Amino acid sequence: MARILVTGGAGFLGSNLCVRLLERGDEVVCMDNLVTGSEKNIESLFGNPNFQFVKHDVSEYVWVPGDVDSIMHLASPASPVDFDKIPIQIMKVGAVATHNLLGLARAKGAKFHLNSTSEVYGDPLVHPQPETYWGNVNPIGPRGVYDEAKRFAEALTMAYHRMHDIQVRIVRTFNTYGPNMRPDDGRVVSNFITQALRDMDITIYGDGMQSRSFCYVDDQIDGQLALLDSGYNGPVNIGNPNEFTMLELAEQVIDVTNSNSKITFHPLPQDDPTQRKPDMTRVTKELGWAPKVQLREGLEKTAPFFAKELGL
Ligand code: UDP
Repeated sequence: MARILVTGGAGFLGSNLCVRLLERGDEVVCMDNLVTGSEKNIESLFGNPNFQFVKHDVSEYVWVPGDVDSIMHLASPASPVDFDKIPIQIMKVGAVATHNLLGLARAKGAKFHLNSTSEVYGDPLVHPQPETYWGNVNPIGPRGVYDEAKRFAEALTMAYHRMHDIQVRIVRTFNTYGPNMRPDDGRVVSNFITQALRDMDITIYGDGMQSRSFCYVDDQIDGQLALLDSGYNGPVNIGNPNEFTMLELAEQVIDVTNSNSKITFHPLPQDDPTQRKPDMTRVTKELGWAPKVQLREGLEKTAPFFAKELGL
């Protein structure tokens, strides 16, 4: 049994991760400032003696009494709608908080696991994206606050690995969806499912031919734990390589929810990546991991969660 600090533990990915760590017998200290996370996501865990919740902003000095075996740093607003609303907090949690937590990892002799993102590839000119691709990021655009914060976080993580010999893991998470997403988080899966469930217009940005590769949350957590438990000190793509256009996604969502919604077209946000798909070579070789849940099945598992959230 390991004692693991999960930052952003009340968020979408963090809360799903806390459940899985407890199920496998680990002790969890969940830290979150509840800016985008919610106590609702973790309320079922409060009675568990191996679970502790600490409300704290990890961009401030962080200390956890007792042993810590691993720090899993998931804290960060991650939806493009957050990038306009809270850009400075996003930069701080990628930069200052990562520094605080690497310092804590060093003090505790803990492994440091950074939840990074496929956004480090920006609007990629190489497709699919291998970890060796350096990316195509606009540093001063609206998405730059997230992309550059995560790129800085990766650089700092590797610097601590080289300077202080800390064990590090870097997950480059590709688009992930599932229960505990915020229905109003503005991301494509949340928007399309909530719109379809209410028979409202489906809002496609641009012509809908841009692509993403969608990973169901259970698979994402499996991949992250496989990386945590591996000996690999460097970035690894975790995602599902099956790629869909936003038009294809809209059609699948309408079908799965039996919706009467109509598809409508709206302006494309600035710097919106045209394509994104993980190259799976490294994750296959190093972890022997592959996602299992395909899009339709994942949407069927996710729609009832949103229906409940919306009181439908
Ligand atoms: N998108 C869309 N309609 C929406 C929300 C998003 O067409 O209501 C598009 C968005 O422009 C992007 C893709 O869906 O091309 C994925 O957007 P999301 O915000 O989920 O995440 P991203 O992959 O861009 O970080």
